[in-house]
Amino acid sequence: MSKGNRSKIDNLGRVVIPKSIRKALDVEANSEISMYVEDKKLIITKGYQTCSICGSKDVTYQLKDKFLCSNCINDIKSL
Ligand SMILES: [Zn+2]
Repeated sequence: MSKGNRSKIDNLGRVVIPKSIRKALDVEANSEISMYVEDKKLIITKGYQTCSICGSKDVTYQLKDKFLCSNCINDIKSL
């Protein structure tokens, strides 16, 4: 895997994933990816992150190392 790639975020929040990293992750245009923060680092993984409780792809919250959808958040709030 390559390392040391540098990039800037544009004014719309976009960043280019270098070709060498796309190749290492085996992702291409229109591939599904997930992004989350871990130890103040941006982690990008192949495929969609799913809700840690119900498995939904509509993840909207990250709580430590868990990912939650809004339905499960609402269920937790109503406990
Ligand atoms: Zn859920």
